[in-house]
Amino acid sequence: MGGAETPAGRQATIRPATRLECKICWTVYDPAVGDEVWQIPPGTPFADLPAHWTCPNCSAEKQSFLVLDD
Ligand SMILES: [Zn+2]
Repeated sequence: MGGAETPAGRQATIRPATRLECKICWTVYDPAVGDEVWQIPPGTPFADLPAHWTCPNCSAEKQSFLVLDD
């Protein structure tokens, strides 16, 4: 009961299981799935993607991805 409440911060935290969505084409990167296009194995957190990784659909850079809050 009464767990610590997370303040409704505007800054989303990218956790290992956090999914992110491309703000341009809405492609979702799901760490549980990885990325076939880039041959990223399932279980790869967004933070561990290669620096040159881009959206597999529209080639947007990583900065164009927004955290998906479930
Ligand atoms: Zn995209």
